[in-house]
Amino acid sequence: MASIFTRIINGEIPCYKIAEDDRYFAFLDINPVTRGHTLVIPKQETDNIFDLEDDLLGGLHVFAKKVAHAIDKAVQCERVTMAVVGLEVPHAHIHLIPINSMREYSFANPKVQLSKEEFEEIAANIRKNF
Ligand code: AMP
Repeated sequence: MASIFTRIINGEIPCYKIAEDDRYFAFLDINPVTRGHTLVIPKQETDNIFDLEDDLLGGLHVFAKKVAHAIDKAVQCERVTMAVVGLEVPHAHIHLIPINSMREYSFANPKVQLSKEEFEEIAANIRKNF
């Protein structure tokens, strides 16, 4: 069965899309650690990021870099951080999380609650800077 992220890529499940090309896709995390928390994924469905073929893994980081620059311009933050976890969704992904302090950088913190309109506004601002 296709992963939830493959279903997002295929348009079967809605998302707040940021960008895509032929190999990669970026969209807002639905349960954000901070405003602007974005996931960057390869379209090829592979569970563990470290099982990706070198070229695809390298390209994922280059694509994430472009997204990170766009987040940096769109969201007030000191730094856009990068994390790989993968405990919840078995489809390789990089978390890009804009932060202003280390205190904000914790998956254990209560997640930021945003309305649909707020998600849409954040996504539009990041897209504008991509
Ligand atoms: P992990 O696999 O532990 O790196 O975490 C998966 C991440 O995917 C979590 O931060 C979730 O909030 C996020 N997530 C799960 N389902 C969706 C979805 N439908 N749209 C956006 N983000 C999602």
